[in-house]
Amino acid sequence: MHLKQNTGCQQALDHFDAFYKPFYGDKWPLIRVSLLSLSKHCAVINKFADPEKARLRLSNLGADDLVKSARRLQGQLEQEALTEQTLSHNSVETSSERIPELDLVANENSFNRSYSSLYNSSPRESLLEKSQQKVFCEDDRVDHGLQTGQEIDPIYDELYKDNIDVFVPTVQVLSERDQLLKDELNLNMFEPRNIDVQVQRPESINIARDIEAFAFPAGDVSQFPPAKSHNHRFGYYLMDAASVMPVIALNVQSEDQVLDLCAAPGGKTVLILQCLDLSAGGSLTCNDNSPSRVKRLKSVLRSYLPKDDLGQVEVMQLDGTMLNHCVYNKVLVDVPCNADRHVLTEEENNLFKPSRTRERLAVMEHQKKLLISAIRCCIVGGEIVYSTCTLAPAQNDGVIQAAMEELLETSQIEVAVEDLSPLASMFKDTFTFFEKSRYGQTIIPTLLNNFGPSFFAKLRRIK
Ligand code: SAM
Repeated sequence: MHLKQNTGCQQALDHFDAFYKPFYGDKWPLIRVSLLSLSKHCAVINKFADPEKARLRLSNLGADDLVKSARRLQGQLEQEALTEQTLSHNSVETSSERIPELDLVANENSFNRSYSSLYNSSPRESLLEKSQQKVFCEDDRVDHGLQTGQEIDPIYDELYKDNIDVFVPTVQVLSERDQLLKDELNLNMFEPRNIDVQVQRPESINIARDIEAFAFPAGDVSQFPPAKSHNHRFGYYLMDAASVMPVIALNVQSEDQVLDLCAAPGGKTVLILQCLDLSAGGSLTCNDNSPSRVKRLKSVLRSYLPKDDLGQVEVMQLDGTMLNHCVYNKVLVDVPCNADRHVLTEEENNLFKPSRTRERLAVMEHQKKLLISAIRCCIVGGEIVYSTCTLAPAQNDGVIQAAMEELLETSQIEVAVEDLSPLASMFKDTFTFFEKSRYGQTIIPTLLNNFGPSFFAKLRRIK
C-alpha cells in the first residue's frame, strides 16, 4: 500500500512509527508491514440461521473452526500439565509456581528497559526536555521537503534522528504546536506505575459452547464469500478473528445479564447472542451513542436474529459514560480507539487529520470514563471485558491503570484483574500475543495470520 504524504493515513503511520516503534521494539517492522497489508477475517456461525449448512459451506472452502482448534490445544495442554504434575510429585525437587504479581514486576522492568535503551532516561522527561528546545534542520532533507535552517519538530527529530527515511513533520504554529506536542507525549506514553491490584488466575477456562469461528489456515489469504441468507437470516458474520477474543474472554453463559456498552455496528453483539438463551432468563442490552450506528446495529440484529429473540434485545442510544444502572453480571466495553487499520486505509473522517487532533488526544479520557461506567454497571462478582482494536499502549494498559487508580481514589469500588495468559496459550496457534502487556492481552498482526490488532483485559468486580 502506498500512503500519500500529509494525508490522515500518513499522519497515522508517522504517529505509529513514533509511539509504537519504541514500545514494540524489533517486532515493529513486521507489525507495520502487516498493518499495511490485507487483513484476514473469520466467519462466525449464526446459530439462528442454518448452522449445519454454513459449517459445511465453510469447511468445503478449506476453513477450520479456530475455537475448536483452541479447545483441542487446551486438551493437550491439560494433559501435559497433568503429566508434569505427576512427575513433580515423584521428584524430590520442589518447584515454585510463578506468582502473577511477580510477573507484573518483571513486566515493568522490561518496559523500563526497552524505553531507557532508547532514551537513556524516563521517556516522558527526556522527550519533554527535547520539546523545550528549538531544533533546526542541519542539512537539506529534500525527501521531506525540509531546508537547511528550517525549524523542525524536535520530538520527531529526536525519534527519527537515526532514520532519515521517515517523514519529519515541521513545526507549524509553534506555541500551540508545542502544547499539542506535550499533550501528545504525555497522553500517548504509557508509563506503568505500581498500583494495588489483585491479579486472579482462573482455575479453569470455559469457552462458551456456541461460539464457532471459521478461518483459513495460516498463510492462506483467501477471502470468504459474502454470507447467504437462510430463512431471511445470514448464515455467518464476517469479522476480524482477533475481535472474537474479547467475547470469548467474557465467557457469556446462557442465563447471563449482559450489557454491550459500545455495541454498534454489532459484530460482537452477534457473538454474544450465540451464547445467550433469551428464553431461559438470559438478557442483552446493547447501547451506542451514535444514531447512525445504532441504525446499523438494529439492521444487523434484524439480519441475524429470529423475530421472537429480536424483541427481547434492548437497544439503547445513550452516552455510555452516563450509565450506572448496576444490574449486569457481564459487561463488554469495546471502546472507540485509534482503530489502527482503519486510520491507515480510510481517509474519510480520519482521526489523524490535523483538524481532529484535540479530539484524538481526548480519546484516552473518554475510554477511561466508558470503562469506569462499565464497572459501575456491573454487579459485585460480575465481570467486565475492556477491548480496543489498537496497539496504542496508552489506550490499552494505560486506560486500565488510569481507571483503577481513579476508582481507588474516588470510590469504594474494587476490581481484580483476571490473568488471561492461560486463555492466550489456548489460542497461540492462531494468534500472536505480545508478551509484555500488563493487564490484558494484545494480539499483534502478523503476515501469516493477519488478524488484529486487538487488546482485551478482563476485570472482576470484587466490591
Ligand atoms: N462493539 C462494536 C462491534 O463489535 O461491532 C464496535 C464498537 S466501536 C469500536 C466503538 C463504538 O463506541 C462506536 O460505535 C461509537 O459510536 C461508540 N461510542 C463512542 N462514544 C460512546 C459513548 N460515549 N457512549 C456509547 N457509545 C459510544
